[in-house]
Amino acid sequence: MLKAFKYRIYLTDEQKVLLAKTFGCCRWFYNFALNLTNETYKATGKGLSRNEIINKLPELKKEKEWLTEVPSQALQQVALDLSSAFLNFFEKRTKFPKFKKKSNKQSVRFPQGIKLYGEYLTLPKLKKVYCKVSRLPSGKLKSLTVSMTPSGKYFASCLYDDGIDLPKQSSEGKAVGIDLGVKDFAITSDGSKYGNPKHYRKYEQKLAKKQKQLAKKQKGSNNRNKARKAVARVHEKITRCREDFLHKLSRKLVDKNQVIVVENLAVKNMVRNHKLAKSISDCGWGQFCTMLKYKAEWGGKYYIEVDRFFPSSKTCNHCLNQLDSLSLDMKLWQCPKCGTIHDRDINAAKNIRDEGLRMLAVGHIATASGERVRPSKGTAFVRHPSVKEESPVTL
Ligand SMILES: [Zn+2]
Repeated sequence: MLKAFKYRIYLTDEQKVLLAKTFGCCRWFYNFALNLTNETYKATGKGLSRNEIINKLPELKKEKEWLTEVPSQALQQVALDLSSAFLNFFEKRTKFPKFKKKSNKQSVRFPQGIKLYGEYLTLPKLKKVYCKVSRLPSGKLKSLTVSMTPSGKYFASCLYDDGIDLPKQSSEGKAVGIDLGVKDFAITSDGSKYGNPKHYRKYEQKLAKKQKQLAKKQKGSNNRNKARKAVARVHEKITRCREDFLHKLSRKLVDKNQVIVVENLAVKNMVRNHKLAKSISDCGWGQFCTMLKYKAEWGGKYYIEVDRFFPSSKTCNHCLNQLDSLSLDMKLWQCPKCGTIHDRDINAAKNIRDEGLRMLAVGHIATASGERVRPSKGTAFVRHPSVKEESPVTL
């Protein structure tokens, strides 16, 4: 199993300069290779392979001497990253690769020449770096990513392979459906509601104050740089609190259940209210689902995404009667057919759970030809005809 361990690292002034150069060179090379791939494609109808990109390096290093100052492993890794970015695009997982900007998060990956021994990390050219090891890793260090936050902190993300296979999956046990919301972050089919901590709102005032201070500072001044870091620190605080909340909640849900079902977010976002966009980006649904997924895999449990549109809110979970419409402010409703009174969100979570279990029961997975296995009858929900299929579920 691959597991990532993230540690804070402390660099000397000399190392900081070299790392800044490495960030710059990698960004330059990524953009250069992306542009070259685009141009080559326009001219010949074919892109560039990973090796073709790597093979450009010796020539480039002669032209641009500054490229030789930084670790060459990191530059080679850029070619790998770019080809996986293209692969993800062609397999419809992401958008077309974009040029990297200095204002984005800065990071660089080392595939080799890395070692963590005691409290020191050895990196190509940067040599020994002090590393605050909080949790002891186990296994073999596969790759390492060094990043810098906008407030000027450095982190090393170490990917370890412990050599142990993932446990065999079993669906024996409790199943839970999770409806993700804005007011309540998560609502489960067993009736629990987990409030959204709304970190952003809580820190909004503090952030506004710091941003106001930043706006007053003269451009290019030392004080402006200090104020910029203060703003970044508030942002980082929000991120840390959110991650902590998501980790604890996902751990709790995975520990208590054997089958975890959520709605595919691409589908969920199609029905979202645009006014809620800010709250939605604040609550980190995507990150939460990623955590559920890997925690479930580590525990030999099932993580299922209901990957098609179905009216989870307006279908009665008791008799499967479907309402024509259900307005967003209707928190409680009574089924006109069977008379059951439903809590809107809990009913939706139950429908999500049942749909996931149905998919599991019929082996609703992609076949070798890429065709999807579709059940012929017994489908509880009517499929919306205009909604495109998303990626298949991983089971
Ligand atoms: Zn009913």
